[in-house]
Amino acid sequence: MRETCDVTIAGGGIVGCAIAQRLTAEGRRVVIVEKGQRLGNGASSAAMGGIITETDELCLGPLRELVKRSRELYPAWVAAVIGLSGIEVPLLTAGALQIALDDAEMIRLHERIVPRWQATGARAEPLLRHEVLRAEPLISRQVRGGFHLPAELALEPRRLMAALSAALWLDPGVRIRLGTRATRVDASPHGVAVHLDDGTRIESGHVIVAGGHLSGSLAPDHAGQLFPIKGEAIEVIAPGAGGYPMRHHVYASVEGRDIYAVPRNDGRLAVGVTHERGRSDTVPTPGNLAMIRHGLAALAPSAASWRMRRHWSGVRPGSVDGIPFIGPADRYGRLILATGHAGLGITLAPVTAELVGGLLDPGGTDAATRDLLALCDPARVRSAIGPSPTER
Ligand SMILES: Cc1cc2nc3c(=O)[nH]c(=O)nc-3n(C[C@H](O)[C@H](O)[C@H](O)COP(=O)(O)OP(=O)(O)OC[C@H]3O[C@@H](n4cnc5c(N)ncnc54)[C@H](O)[C@@H]3O)c2cc1C
Repeated sequence: MRETCDVTIAGGGIVGCAIAQRLTAEGRRVVIVEKGQRLGNGASSAAMGGIITETDELCLGPLRELVKRSRELYPAWVAAVIGLSGIEVPLLTAGALQIALDDAEMIRLHERIVPRWQATGARAEPLLRHEVLRAEPLISRQVRGGFHLPAELALEPRRLMAALSAALWLDPGVRIRLGTRATRVDASPHGVAVHLDDGTRIESGHVIVAGGHLSGSLAPDHAGQLFPIKGEAIEVIAPGAGGYPMRHHVYASVEGRDIYAVPRNDGRLAVGVTHERGRSDTVPTPGNLAMIRHGLAALAPSAASWRMRRHWSGVRPGSVDGIPFIGPADRYGRLILATGHAGLGITLAPVTAELVGGLLDPGGTDAATRDLLALCDPARVRSAIGPSPTER
């Protein structure tokens, strides 16, 4: 069987779906190939949902401009997804709190993190102990103080994926092939052929490889630069719940491990997360559950006794230098990688879609977009890709 379209997208997570939505809005015919039985089958449904711009140290380094751009795009992007799908996606806009539960962490924040916030122009408002407790009464009374980071947002990734998926199913410019795996990509100067495990061959101008932590199988020259990072989280629910159990999403460090809580608008509280580099199984473990519960008890003691609704794991797509791979991965510019977002893929989905749109329409890009594309260019990590025809 043979099919044609303008762009084939291998992988229907948040990255592939955000790109599909962007490209179809520009009038391109898109096919999404997803090996799972629904869109958002992988890491995208396992995420906590922080739209993170300050609380992850990576955001204060080379990713600064990338996360800032994505944050700018976020509210309008979510509104567009809601408009297209008719599915509400509550967006928590009160910001994040980064708090210190002991004196050592307070000193670390002041010595290591505050100067970086200042250097990058991040808005971080200091809070005294009683101000933290007033803002979030559930927080442990051990708290020493903290910071309010008003730019950060949060949402429920499964809800966002449901809306994005509904919008794409309604879109006449998009064909979605579920339960089908892309097995090989053959690029040429004239186009690209994507081979599927059911024998279909899709011919298009470009293929976007957005297969999360499995992307390397379709871009073998970069496979060694991409790796899985397993993460686990849980969800508890407040008794008699209704509404957000906290007003902010909250970061803390407990015995040197991050603990992160993100409230949902129906009384649930997602709490995580773990990081296991190199692991790609999705089996949640009792050891990690105990660790997360221990962190929750230190962060918000009363919430530790709430009923647990879920315990899950997902696999983030890691990259060797912590920067996503967004750009051409073959010598003809036909195979475009869009992966390696690690723990920031929900945050970076809108800017990734914008950058891929810019790659396919280079005449329409501005200098800032070109700078971000240069940052994320897979060729920055020299590999066996070989010279492009013009370099020969
Ligand atoms: C516990 C946890 C917490 C997280 N919290 C946050 C957070 O708070 N904020 C944030 O920004 N990010 C967070 N992340 C990271 C975020 O989830 C990921 O960066 C993001 O989901 C990656 O999206 P993706 O579309 O690239 O990958 P995925 O969602 O994994 O999607 C890739 C898809 O490609 C499909 N696929 C793979 N290979 C093929 C193939 N050959 N053919 C067809 N289909 C294929 C897979 O089935 C999958 O559905 C978290 C992740 C985890 C695990």
